[in-house]
Amino acid sequence: MGKVLIIGCGGVASVAIQKCCQNSEVFEEICIASRTVSKCDALKEQLEGKTKTKITTAQVDADNVDELIALIEKVKPDLVLNLALPYQDLTIMDACLATKVHYVDTANYEPEDTAKFEYKWQWAYRERFEKAGITALLGSGFDPGVTSVFSAYALKHYFDEINYIDILDCNGGDHGYPFATNFNPEINIREVAANGSYWEDGHWVETKPMEIKRVYDFPQVGEKDMYLLHHEEIESLALNIPGIKRIRFFMTFGQSYLTHLKCLENVGMTSIEPIMYEGKEIVPLQFLKAVLPDPASLGPRTVGKTNIGCIFVGKKDGKEKKLYIYNVCDHQECYKEVGSQAVSYTTGVPAMIGAMMILNGTWNKAGVYNIEEFDPDPFMEELNKWGLPWIIDENPTLID
Ligand code: NDP
Repeated sequence: MGKVLIIGCGGVASVAIQKCCQNSEVFEEICIASRTVSKCDALKEQLEGKTKTKITTAQVDADNVDELIALIEKVKPDLVLNLALPYQDLTIMDACLATKVHYVDTANYEPEDTAKFEYKWQWAYRERFEKAGITALLGSGFDPGVTSVFSAYALKHYFDEINYIDILDCNGGDHGYPFATNFNPEINIREVAANGSYWEDGHWVETKPMEIKRVYDFPQVGEKDMYLLHHEEIESLALNIPGIKRIRFFMTFGQSYLTHLKCLENVGMTSIEPIMYEGKEIVPLQFLKAVLPDPASLGPRTVGKTNIGCIFVGKKDGKEKKLYIYNVCDHQECYKEVGSQAVSYTTGVPAMIGAMMILNGTWNKAGVYNIEEFDPDPFMEELNKWGLPWIIDENPTLID
């Protein structure tokens, strides 16, 4: 059916690429392009002979729009799947606009020198994408991504009005290290070290990092401590779910993770302010990333399950209604299938599905859209087929 240029070849990309190769009817051809081309070549070698998808590789610096344009013109893809870092979103969108090629990503743009992620920069491209007749699908991972599709699905099939959404991201996995992050350490630590916030009655309420804690008994995982964080899908869901009064996002963290993080913060290791070290400028957080375990290496040692989903409260036929939609994913099952732990898996699978929705024309409108703005039904169906089946509970325990 089509050809996709995939940018990035890290933890999430490796899963998405393997899923594209399992789905060769749609992904007839892929080009894997990243900063370090040897990683792309290694993955190509591992997959060739086991898939009908034709694979090529390329080196690209995705911070450089001209390089990206030249690569897109050479590869001539139908779509670019951005699985590099949030810093590259705008340069890749610029290159897609210049070449009139569809764009899909999993995380919203974040300037490298400010730990603040918002959609305003990417939403500013709406008119230009519309005029160019191409689609930008924003946030096709798990959260954002599947959680946003769950919200659209709940609204379409179960509610007249959703008033409260709690997004719960639980990782019950254990990798055996005292401290490691499940995806890119720099992005992960920037996210959890920042102030928290939630949406209530039409405005943001800001909290201190880890200020709000709850305990929840997660199906198939058990009881976990979870903390309120700011998360990007809150911003778009607040606009796209009519009647919404409050949206919160909680993520589970173990005590060991939090104690290490506090200590690293206290000594300045999580700072993104450059410092001089032996005559060279370094960013403490980037140095920390270099000494932490590579998230890609956690696969073989992580056991346990993730449970990510949303609890909705709203109204149906004048009566109050509650609903929980969630997915449970087993780290070791993911490792057996694609050689990665569940955090990369739960992001890589929806990235492939989002790309498929645009490529096969199931989702077809020009402009820049968050994922909940499309019909959720075909995406929900594909989740069941591609390894992320979901469960509906119509009587969940609510969070106070
Ligand atoms: P990794 O660090 O494992 O991979 C990032 C990849 O991008 C690497 O291959 C890296 O290349 C490449 N890259 C970085 N900078 C450039 C550049 N300038 N030019 C070309 N390639 C570049 O990250 P993850 O796979 O963990 O995360 C990928 C994305 O997924 C991130 O944006 C992250 O925020 C997002 N994510 C989304 C989630 C969701 O649920 N929505 C959940 C988890 C992650 P190199 O090998 O040379 O370093």
